[in-house]
Amino acid sequence: MANLKLVNKTDTQETTLVQISDRVTIGGSQLTLIGGPCSVENLEQMDTVANTLKTAPVQAIRGGVFKPRTSPYSFQGLGQEGLSILTEMRRRHGLPVVTEVMSISQIEAIASHADMLQVGSRNMQNFDLLKALGQVDKPILLKRGLAATLDEFLGAAEYILSHGNPQVVLCERGIRSFDNFTRNVLDLGIVAALKQLTHLPVIVDPSHAAGKRELVAPLAKAAIAGGADGLMIECHPTPEQSVSDARQALSLDDMVTLVRELAPLATAIGRTVEISEEISEGEESNFSLPQTIAA
Ligand code: PEP
Ligand code: MN
Repeated sequence: MANLKLVNKTDTQETTLVQISDRVTIGGSQLTLIGGPCSVENLEQMDTVANTLKTAPVQAIRGGVFKPRTSPYSFQGLGQEGLSILTEMRRRHGLPVVTEVMSISQIEAIASHADMLQVGSRNMQNFDLLKALGQVDKPILLKRGLAATLDEFLGAAEYILSHGNPQVVLCERGIRSFDNFTRNVLDLGIVAALKQLTHLPVIVDPSHAAGKRELVAPLAKAAIAGGADGLMIECHPTPEQSVSDARQALSLDDMVTLVRELAPLATAIGRTVEISEEISEGEESNFSLPQTIAA
């Protein structure tokens, strides 16, 4: 959109770096991987997740504590107790935490516990919330609305920037279409377009796009090949028992495998992923590029 002064990029502008902790920055040549369950369920669940994922490694963990559920009778999240669990995860494991904010009244509590505040798809055009997040000194992960156009998505980001907060990361998570075999349709076209039109980092959530765990890894890989700056993926110690979005949750083992499989892909496009200690201590990835390409 022509009149979006702050999100548009000039031809030569690099991607803006959004810092979510001392060690973790989104938008650089190193990809940012965020993993964790759809919902924070209890301390033990999150401890198991963080313990495994920090060795994968991922750079941040996620978990919803205020959940936007379709039915008012579904689990709504642990609220304040969930925030305390997330803070404890940062303390124990040194990983920054990302969680969703649904209303202005939740901002203060969430901003004092989380390293990054997620605006969910259902709130992408909650303009009062976006304006309020413009006043927050924490990075914002803005997810694309369920049926939002590119202009609407960038317009939403412009709201946050124009109200004073330049730290915004965009997240494509699939859009509604006619075929419900996948939960949503992952739109890699918009990822490519956003990378050309805006200087903001763009990450992809293949979990809510796929809706089925067996489709998550291929979509994750396609997103990285297509230029995304990172991924946010749902995973759980016992995926089938997840209180929300069970069907799309990866096991922790599958998550670790996926992170390893991303390394050679990242290399192929001139980017990197943080390598797990095991691999850097000598274990080779069993994926290799054909000789002609690798040479
Ligand atoms: C989530 O990340 O758990 C979530 C609710 O995602 P979305 O807003 O993309 O549906
Ligand atoms: Mn979810």
